Amino acid sequence: MKNESFYYKGNELFCEQVPVSEIAKTVGTPVYCYSSRHLINRFKAYDKAFDQRDHLICFAVKANSNLAVLNLLARLGAGADIVSGGELFRAIKAGIPSRRIVYSGVGKTKAEMAYALKEDILMFNVESLEELYELEAISKNLGKRARISIRVNPDVDPKTHPYISTGLKKNKFGLSAPQALMAYQKANESKWLEVIGIDCHIGSQILETTPFINAFEKMRELMNELSSMGIELSYIDLGGGLGISYHQETPPAPGDYVAAILALAKDLDQTIIIEPGRSICGNSGILLTRLLYNKKGSMKNFYVVDGAMNDLGRPSLYDAYHEILPVIQKADSADILVDVVGPICETGDFLARDRKLPPLSKGELLAVMSAGAYGFTMSSNYNSRPKPAEVMVAGERFEIVRRRQTYEDLIQGEVIPEWEAMSV
Ligand SMILES: *Cc1c(COP(=O)(O)O)cnc(C)c1O
Repeated sequence: MKNESFYYKGNELFCEQVPVSEIAKTVGTPVYCYSSRHLINRFKAYDKAFDQRDHLICFAVKANSNLAVLNLLARLGAGADIVSGGELFRAIKAGIPSRRIVYSGVGKTKAEMAYALKEDILMFNVESLEELYELEAISKNLGKRARISIRVNPDVDPKTHPYISTGLKKNKFGLSAPQALMAYQKANESKWLEVIGIDCHIGSQILETTPFINAFEKMRELMNELSSMGIELSYIDLGGGLGISYHQETPPAPGDYVAAILALAKDLDQTIIIEPGRSICGNSGILLTRLLYNKKGSMKNFYVVDGAMNDLGRPSLYDAYHEILPVIQKADSADILVDVVGPICETGDFLARDRKLPPLSKGELLAVMSAGAYGFTMSSNYNSRPKPAEVMVAGERFEIVRRRQTYEDLIQGEVIPEWEAMSV
């Protein structure tokens, strides 16, 4: 997905004003490159669309949790949607004020909830009755009231990949309307819980506004019922999920999505929270990788590259499509059909299959596009491969915002026991 931040000048791929080959030369490959300009533009597209309306944009940290990315967004006024204690730690380190942090997720542990309470986050998006009781006990114990909203499962079909749809009855997330009403009642009776909001998140990579509108309407019905129970809310959290273009998708622009929400919220005075992740950072990043070998199988051609499923898992995990571009364009060569595969010992280790690419030789660079969301954050050390470096670009400058892991990093914290029983 080319855009104003990733484009060809002459025959060479640039990130802002930097030729990406220069980044590869300096930092090595594989390497993630993020455009600060693109991140800023995407965030502002959301922010501006809210205009005078009270709102909070809580960036979903799980999409890209690099401190430099979070800090950039924090300085633009972003909050954070977190799903673990580790993400809370990162958000705070990056300078996101705790009162702009909301905490989602079905499996918050006691320790994580205590940590978040001590940090005084804006609210917990509670996903079950048992979690509610656990949080109440911890709040009582710490002598600190917890602000909460209940995550509602609105049972709407986001029409996306089954692994990333979260708002259907059969999904593990949130509470059904009747369950939610009960949870609200319980919470309202507790002096350790302060009911302040309602929350949902219906899925990811959603390409139309209708599912969001349907979810909002379900939430409104519930809010009316809460009102009649004497429970008034200050926040409506609509979650994230707006899709991006990986290939030929045409998702609504952030501004149009916000306009659709605002049209529904005209007569409401609550602060609107949204939790976009992918739609802010997805097309802000690429993964640069180098061709190690050309391999002609008996049925297929393979480009064996130095990036793999441990660096970018989406193709293997969701069969996701990522556009792949040569860093130096070839003028007059006919494309060939190839699988772009990594060095990992799994058949599922591919970045693209049956893709038309120009004939390239050993050592040439490829850019895996749209890799800024759920890229590095899902990376692993499988096959004991050090995790790639991450680079942030701003205009003519770039900086390593996470150094490449070393072999020493790989064995950090490991111990060989010296027990008798281990003697051989
Ligand atoms: C994953 C997630 C998000 C962000 O989803 P995107 O599709 O990246 O916008 C927001 N809220 C919650 C609760 C999530 O789990």
